[in-house]
Amino acid sequence: MSPRALVTGGAGFIGSHLTDELLHCGWRVRVLDDLSTGRRGNLAHLDGKAGLTFFSGSATDPELVEPLVAESDVVFHLAAAVGVRLVVEQPVRTLSTNIRATELVLEAAARHRVKVLVASTSEVYGKLDVERFAETDDLVLGPTHKSRWSYAASKIIDEHLALAYAREKDLQVSVLRLFNTIGPRQTGQYGMVVPRFVRQALSGAPITVYGDGTQRRSFTWVGDTVHAMIALAQHPGAAGEVFNVGHTKDTSIGELAQMVKRQTHSRSEVRCVPFAEAYDTAGFEDMQRRLPDTTKLRKLIGYRPTLNLPAMLEAIVTYQRAELGREVREGVVRHLQGRTSRGSGVGTIPSSFRG
Ligand code: UDP
Repeated sequence: MSPRALVTGGAGFIGSHLTDELLHCGWRVRVLDDLSTGRRGNLAHLDGKAGLTFFSGSATDPELVEPLVAESDVVFHLAAAVGVRLVVEQPVRTLSTNIRATELVLEAAARHRVKVLVASTSEVYGKLDVERFAETDDLVLGPTHKSRWSYAASKIIDEHLALAYAREKDLQVSVLRLFNTIGPRQTGQYGMVVPRFVRQALSGAPITVYGDGTQRRSFTWVGDTVHAMIALAQHPGAAGEVFNVGHTKDTSIGELAQMVKRQTHSRSEVRCVPFAEAYDTAGFEDMQRRLPDTTKLRKLIGYRPTLNLPAMLEAIVTYQRAELGREVREGVVRHLQGRTSRGSGVGTIPSSFRG
């Protein structure tokens, strides 16, 4: 009998890639997604596919979650409020969605003895100032009046809940701290830098580097993240443990802007935008760097990043070019340019896409 997965947030960027790969590996998959940030279109290519069932609803709804968890072998819990922009603009939603949904999933999983993987984030390391973040390092957050930290705080509670269920209820649960996952289907609407830069470059709009561009991130290929998730779900040594999942090299945001410009052959200007202007909130704090120590993951499942950043960007540019073309044909042009704290702004249609 093929294993049964429940993927909460399965219509989102990472969730939809995970769903693809699980089906490819012969799993039966149920997706639960409220389509708040996820998109039905992310799963459209799987319409009618045997082994996949889609449930539209929230992971905070106990009536939905309980039976779906009960009929699964593994729950991949990805449903969460995502993206710095969304978090800064809607901190109530971030806190309640992230904490309630995780508690509900863990409660049901403990009752039915179902294994769980909880997607956490590198954001939990906060302002920790070491070269590489290890799972046992301290987590250093800023003050509560800066709403950015509500995301990390909610994910830290999720992690504590997961580990408490592992210890006290003997639940098989693993936590994955994801580092800046990128790939096709990721949208820039909620602040993520790579799809934003690629869109800006393709449409000839200024590429908006926040701050001075010296901040560094380790951009991680979604395919590698998804493989790590599935391997950990099947490894007995993963239970009760926390893992970093990220690329082993980092890049500055300034360098990223130049790479995107080069790879798209764009004539866009690279423009520095102060954080206060970018996020429209007083005292926004960014993190200067974020590079994972992946020794633990490598030792357990042989994890190694498969693509370098130019190769990832190539796939993303191809995807975004096709999306932009489709949106122009359908008359929905969403350009991500300039000062965008309250939305995406509307720009001109790039000449290459004019009909
Ligand atoms: N960023 C940027 N321009 C944008 C969007 C983001 O310079 O249009 C920066 C952001 O300030 C951060 C980095 O890119 O330093 C990564 O941002 P993202 O929101 O993708 O992920 P984070 O690592 O902050 O969660």
